[in-house]
Amino acid sequence: MITVAPIVDSVLRMWDCIVVGAGPAGAIAALRLAKHGHEVLLVDKASFPRYKVCGCCLNSVAQEVLAEAGLENLLRSQQAVQLDELQLFDGNRKAYIKLPSSYSLSREKFDLSLIDFAVDQGCRFLPNTLVHVSKSDEDFHTIQLAGPGTEVGFARAKVLIVADGLSGRTLDGRDEFKPIVSGKSRFGAGVILDEPPSFYESGKIYMACGSGGYVGLVRLEDGRLDVAAALDPSYSRKASGVPGAAADILAGCGLPAPSTWKDSHWAGTQVLTRRRDRVAGHRLFIAGDACGYPEPFTGEGIAWALQSGLATANLASRGIREWQPALSTAWQDRYRILRKQQSRSALVARTLRNETTRRLLINSAATFPSIAATAVKYITSVRSAVWQG
Ligand SMILES: Cc1cc2nc3c(=O)[nH]c(=O)nc-3n(C[C@H](O)[C@H](O)[C@H](O)COP(=O)(O)OP(=O)(O)OC[C@H]3O[C@@H](n4cnc5c(N)ncnc54)[C@H](O)[C@@H]3O)c2cc1C
Repeated sequence: MITVAPIVDSVLRMWDCIVVGAGPAGAIAALRLAKHGHEVLLVDKASFPRYKVCGCCLNSVAQEVLAEAGLENLLRSQQAVQLDELQLFDGNRKAYIKLPSSYSLSREKFDLSLIDFAVDQGCRFLPNTLVHVSKSDEDFHTIQLAGPGTEVGFARAKVLIVADGLSGRTLDGRDEFKPIVSGKSRFGAGVILDEPPSFYESGKIYMACGSGGYVGLVRLEDGRLDVAAALDPSYSRKASGVPGAAADILAGCGLPAPSTWKDSHWAGTQVLTRRRDRVAGHRLFIAGDACGYPEPFTGEGIAWALQSGLATANLASRGIREWQPALSTAWQDRYRILRKQQSRSALVARTLRNETTRRLLINSAATFPSIAATAVKYITSVRSAVWQG
């Protein structure tokens, strides 16, 4: 039997905006809307703080968007670790590249602090609740909220922002928003190690490349080691699973893995490379990974998520006051700028898949480190503020 749980009673009403997913895209969108005085409900199926497979590196674009949202002190206040070097490995080749302003911060801390800021601005946050779009009318969407038990309730929103990540299924059943998944895609996997080998120093990103994928390692604010990998499904199967495949890639580069490696609690993702042709609809915007995602080699996903969260919030704010079809067209158009950035990142990842070009690239980066540092700086800089307007 379906009952309406007391936990969701007070949220079963009309909202200016419901934001689905409290990752960086959803949380910053909710924060911006609440700051503009709108009534916002931010919903996530997970309880927070939550682990998320991620390299946990924040580049200068992410920092710029945080500053634009008034959160310029967030990284420092959360003791994020400043990163100064990327160490790239492939077999016995290595290159050390100087990094422009970058930080590492666990997703538990980063995502939770964004949510806290949104709540401080008056946003209502509902964790442990799965969202499904039930019905869309001319003036509002009806949203089904399913709590942790069998409880189900319905809320309405003048505008909906869907930021449900790579594996989000909020819009399942709406053919126009069906994701297109690349057949050759790798999948993501990750773990956080409590007692990592002392070899891995704080302030550096270690990136081990191999024929079946790559593994990134970075120290977090509390000294734990974040491990995030992108792997070919066939390579992982041959190595009898993710920990074996990731360990093989590290060993191939002469990098150490702790004895607890295989017994640690690894998590995986859906295949990574996907896109949606439509990222907006009537009173609806899609933000973050939910729009589409290439491979994560260049570590720009959080920056894209934050940019799209702010951009969709600004458009949603106008739509709450008076909806106009031009608003969804505007996001569809503006999202092209982010798609270009993603294509550039996808090109880097594709280049690194090929052994010859990968080795050539690493050798060149080792021989000309300042050119490599300039290339990294170019890749991780803002050239167009998609969130403005
Ligand atoms: C291996 C790997 C390494 C990476 N490394 C980096 C890196 O170093 N730097 C970087 O910038 N990016 C990196 N990324 C990318 C980054 O993790 C993502 O781009 C970023 O998390 C996207 O944020 P988001 O808000 O769009 O989605 P998410 O952070 O995935 O949040 C989506 C939220 O939606 C919720 N949700 C889903 N469905 C529902 C539903 N129906 N109802 C309610 N809630 C729902 C989920 O619980 C989740 O909390 C990496 C990714 C991978 C896979």
